[in-house]
Amino acid sequence: MSSLWYFTEEEKMLAESVRAFAEDQLAPKIEHLDEIEGFNLEAFKKLGEMGLLGITVREEDGGAGMGAVAATIAMEEMAAVDASTTLSYLAHTILCVNQIGTNGSKEQKLKYLPKLISGEHIGGMGMSEPGAGSDALGMLTRAEKQTNGAYKINGSKSWITNGPNGDIFYVYAKTGPTKKDLSTFIMDKSMHGFTTGKKFKKMGMRASPTGELWFSDVMVPEANRVGAEGASVKAMMKNLDIERLTISGISLGIARNCIEVATQYSKDRKQFNIPIGAFQQIQERLAEATAWYEACRALTYQAAKTWDLGLMQGKEASMMAAKAKLQSAQMATQVGLDAIQILGGYGYTREFPVERQMRDAKLIEIGAGTNEILRVIIARQMLGSDVADALQD
Ligand SMILES: Cc1cc2nc3c(=O)[nH]c(=O)nc-3n(C[C@H](O)[C@H](O)[C@H](O)COP(=O)(O)OP(=O)(O)OC[C@H]3O[C@@H](n4cnc5c(N)ncnc54)[C@H](O)[C@@H]3O)c2cc1C
Repeated sequence: MSSLWYFTEEEKMLAESVRAFAEDQLAPKIEHLDEIEGFNLEAFKKLGEMGLLGITVREEDGGAGMGAVAATIAMEEMAAVDASTTLSYLAHTILCVNQIGTNGSKEQKLKYLPKLISGEHIGGMGMSEPGAGSDALGMLTRAEKQTNGAYKINGSKSWITNGPNGDIFYVYAKTGPTKKDLSTFIMDKSMHGFTTGKKFKKMGMRASPTGELWFSDVMVPEANRVGAEGASVKAMMKNLDIERLTISGISLGIARNCIEVATQYSKDRKQFNIPIGAFQQIQERLAEATAWYEACRALTYQAAKTWDLGLMQGKEASMMAAKAKLQSAQMATQVGLDAIQILGGYGYTREFPVERQMRDAKLIEIGAGTNEILRVIIARQMLGSDVADALQD
């Protein structure tokens, strides 16, 4: 697929180098890792060597100094081959590293970013809990301030990408009585009382380890609190916005490869002595798939560009990111299903990647805000909460 007209030379070069990396480092391993639910640690280290683990962090803090467009390009190129490793990359780079780079103090950046950006440490983010997913502010994990200034943290987190294999986590906890009394802490898995629970067995994204984090009287120094106590809600929402933009890149990559595979197959496969691409019902699926993909691609990169230029703020920016993810996620699942249908019996087997890619695509309709929650965000912005939330009043 062609580059969009406004990609810079730097962004085009990035796309080429990530594409080469994906073919070289991800393609040979993904089928096996999907089978055994493993993790491509070597590729992760290589991403560190390439300078991609701190893609959005400022150069003076050791990052690549690029933005949401660049990060989305990296996601799209990697996910066209292996969406699982890309999801782990996103949790590390956007949910942990970008957050420390954006909100961390000078000392926190100096302490944590070098090893995260080199790939020596793997990062993740802990927001969701067993009883608090869509209602993230309903979380129960608590951080109690001690007389020496440290915080004692108790609680648990669920479905955490890189939970089983990560080292450093950007964790949200309550520090007061109301839903909005939210604070953030950088937690190191070596801290006493910090353990990991089970690694989940999953339908897709099987080469991206997902698990639970458990905190039992974990003493976290005050120096590890990010920002002021009780002031994390806004930063958490902003992180969800960039997560939604960049995770849309994963949907785009999955869809792009499914379209390429299905198009080639439609030329090669003959039934009734003609290529199946001659059948109009096959043409309809291909044409709809590529048109929807291009529409989502334009929307996603426009939203990412808008983010980079700072043209939208607050709820307006959130609505833009929600629109991009809502459409891209649904599009990729549908395109995956269409590709399987076009490939017929072969599509349903693991002879071709589309079966795996459809399973991976489904996650994006759930993680980082379900389709339903994104529709709520968009409708609230369109109607105003007086109307949109009237049923709940
Ligand atoms: C593979 C994977 C990786 C993940 N990685 C991370 C991670 O790294 N860090 C992290 O913090 N979290 C992570 N998550 C958690 C993810 O963000 C949550 O699963 C997601 O937010 C949905 O929450 P839930 O699963 O509790 O579903 P629920 O909130 O229980 O939702 C169940 C259903 O109810 C619907 N629903 C809920 N509220 C409403 C409403 N107001 N209106 C209409 N419908 C509604 C939902 O859309 C859904 O269909 C991950 C999840 C998965 C599966």
